[in-house]
Amino acid sequence: MVQVISAGTLLVQQLTKMKEKGSNMDLLCPSPTRHAKVMEDLTKEVFSKINMQTFIHINLDAIAHNVKILKSMAGPETEINAVIKDGAYGTGLLPATKAMLEAGVTHFTAACVNEAVYLRKNGIKHVPISVLGNLSAEELPRILEHNLMPSISWIKPLLSMPKEDLIYQDGQRLNVNINIDTGLHRYGVKPDELPAMVDELDNLGVGIHSMYTHYARGVNATEENTKQFDEFLKATKPYMHRGIKLHSAATSGLIQRLGHDLGYIRIGKALLGLSCGNSKEVTSLFASYGFTPVLSVVAKPSFYKKLPKGSPVGYDGSYVTQSDEWIANFRCGWGDGYNKRLGEGKGYIKRLRTGI
Ligand SMILES: *Cc1c(COP(=O)(O)O)cnc(C)c1O
Repeated sequence: MVQVISAGTLLVQQLTKMKEKGSNMDLLCPSPTRHAKVMEDLTKEVFSKINMQTFIHINLDAIAHNVKILKSMAGPETEINAVIKDGAYGTGLLPATKAMLEAGVTHFTAACVNEAVYLRKNGIKHVPISVLGNLSAEELPRILEHNLMPSISWIKPLLSMPKEDLIYQDGQRLNVNINIDTGLHRYGVKPDELPAMVDELDNLGVGIHSMYTHYARGVNATEENTKQFDEFLKATKPYMHRGIKLHSAATSGLIQRLGHDLGYIRIGKALLGLSCGNSKEVTSLFASYGFTPVLSVVAKPSFYKKLPKGSPVGYDGSYVTQSDEWIANFRCGWGDGYNKRLGEGKGYIKRLRTGI
């Protein structure tokens, strides 16, 4: 299944967003050996239909492939809680969510209420959807109307309504996810304040669907993340008899095996084939699991030539060739919205593979 989202301006918006989120564009170029023919056909078709020389290619089949890998890495009882925030990391909120549903994902987590409501209004009805961030009182009515599960770090927003009204439209009581702060220190209830919070929720008649935490550090920080993991297990232990789901592992945590066998793994990047770090070491480690990128940028060079070593290239000679190098031009630039901050020789498409 192949979906061409768009070209030109949308392309650079997506790239800029992904880069700002620290994605690694190295992994976004499909392997020429596997994709050359597909890409060649697709390129011809896109060029002839929309006259664009550069476009984003979304490979929804890669989602099913990545789900399979995730399942093999997770515990036998562990479900995939797909983080589809920010338009599924720029791959397209609705198509990506549908592909994940088809591939067996059983729970979705959006960045904000608007995203979650968009999914509900577009047919994603009978699957749980959680919302990240700290719930605000103003969001509660829509949370209840659309059967969503908010994240809470305190109970304050829940006090904005009479407790009898904290029910979904079908009469079931509101369910929340409790965010526990084990070291990120941005949000989340402190472990020693958790018992009081659980009591208050019980008094309000609000259900606790899950308890979760988020690691502060990346895939190399084994010691610090293990400390957070242990703290999380200790804080949640008294509630395990209540059937509350636990989750701590996002992509890095999963690779570290810190929470891979809890109730959920809470995964965004790996589902979309995005590495959980930019260093060579981390991208190779990530790639070694076989995750496939969902988003690729397809561009046909409009011109190329070979330059000798030491040639300055571009305004102010911001890049200097390291050896005799091929320089190619692609039809995408400032006019499309390419963010100037991303230039200056930093070049975010670090390794181009050609197959076309
Ligand atoms: C974004 C996010 C995730 C997903 O992280 P990935 O590294 O993309 O897998 C999980 N949990 C929280 C709280 C997040 O904000």
